[in-house]
Amino acid sequence: MPHAKPSIQFLGAAGTVTGSKHLVRANGSAVLLDCGLFQGMKSLRERNWKPLPFAPSEVDGVVLSHAHIDHSGYLPRLVRDGFDGPIYCTAATADLLAFLLKDSAYLQEEHAAYANRKRFSKHKPALPLYTVDDAEATLELVRAVPAEEPFVAAKGLRATLRPSGHILGASTVDLEVQNGRKSLRVVFSGDIGRFESPILKDPAPVSEADYLLVESTYGDKRHASDPNAQLAEIVSETADHGGTLVVPAFAVGRTQEMLWRLKTLEDDGRIPTIPVYLDSPMAINVTDVYRRSCEEHDREMREAYAAGEKPLTPSLLRVAATPEESKAINSVRGPLIIVSASGMVTGGRVLHHMKRRLPHKRTTVMLTGYQASGSRGRTLQEGAETLRIHGQDVPVRARVETIYGLSAHGDQTELLRWLSGFDRAPRGTFLVHGEPDVLDTFAGVIHERQQWDVSVAKYQERVELD
Ligand SMILES: [Zn+2]
Repeated sequence: MPHAKPSIQFLGAAGTVTGSKHLVRANGSAVLLDCGLFQGMKSLRERNWKPLPFAPSEVDGVVLSHAHIDHSGYLPRLVRDGFDGPIYCTAATADLLAFLLKDSAYLQEEHAAYANRKRFSKHKPALPLYTVDDAEATLELVRAVPAEEPFVAAKGLRATLRPSGHILGASTVDLEVQNGRKSLRVVFSGDIGRFESPILKDPAPVSEADYLLVESTYGDKRHASDPNAQLAEIVSETADHGGTLVVPAFAVGRTQEMLWRLKTLEDDGRIPTIPVYLDSPMAINVTDVYRRSCEEHDREMREAYAAGEKPLTPSLLRVAATPEESKAINSVRGPLIIVSASGMVTGGRVLHHMKRRLPHKRTTVMLTGYQASGSRGRTLQEGAETLRIHGQDVPVRARVETIYGLSAHGDQTELLRWLSGFDRAPRGTFLVHGEPDVLDTFAGVIHERQQWDVSVAKYQERVELD
């Protein structure tokens, strides 16, 4: 009996930026590329609760591009619903998953418990999407594979991961699909990072694809140039006044880049040496993974470590692991820098630092990236006079600055640079992982530059590959 044609179905990050999930079927095998959680607006989050158009037990394996929850955070649910195959990713992604999936499960359980306490859910009792036990069962299935080396992801499907420069362990996925006597190549960009950024290797070029899935997060934008000048100015001014610099930072990637930049500026004599407090259990764990994953480091990092330097450790770095150590920072007088999660001030230990430091004129808050509307970070950015924290309106007398150019996603120029690595036009290029207007703009740009046949992937659309 002839096999059905190979196909790919877009089950997330199609017309939006979260829920990354694409099912490839060929030769009677099924492999899921990414297994992300939908996040953000309620209408998107509700998709996490709808059944998938396939039985999880039918899937032979999952190949993960990277550890971010919008690419990995549905895995525990997939496992709870019957998936028990291997989950392939790089070693660094596996290390990060151990922290991120358990944290995500903990938040799911907390949210359900809170809903039950406050009785705001229409479900009685409200249940978590998955539990810490589900996350632990998921971690048992993770298989680390080396980058640049092909492996069998399922019968008739060979995959190769290559660095994508986005966060530690992040990769592009190159899938060789057996199609009768021929084979075809499906390439998935994952999230493409930055070229010439600190710590990580540049995105590695991929030269060939029959079908290509490309992320488009910043397909319509150019990032600001080198942020070090702005960073040096803000740190120096705060230090001059004996003030406090509070830096809300995402635990994965942004925190480590901030530490690297502070250390570099200090070594170059562009900022004074002042105490830097790293206060977030997740960020502390993740920074350790960043330090020890030497296979992920770019040349500069390797050389620094070879020379016995500590590129992620500013001279006066203090790590607050316990809640007591975190609280003790309250009594430290400036000048000092506090780096703490979360990046948009939506939760985490940064909240108590905000409560303590925002009312003071000698405090500067430095936001380090995009602030979603409705987040406390955005409220500060918009110049609010008070900020609601733990049911209290905290007066804002601090200076608020936003530092631009620190994104972990490549901008339009960097995405096009990665695309220019392909030797020939793919037969089909599908844009994923972007807001609708950005996807349309970027499709136009690629079509014009590369003369490729480009379309925007539609949610749940299934495309035959031949
Ligand atoms: Zn990502």
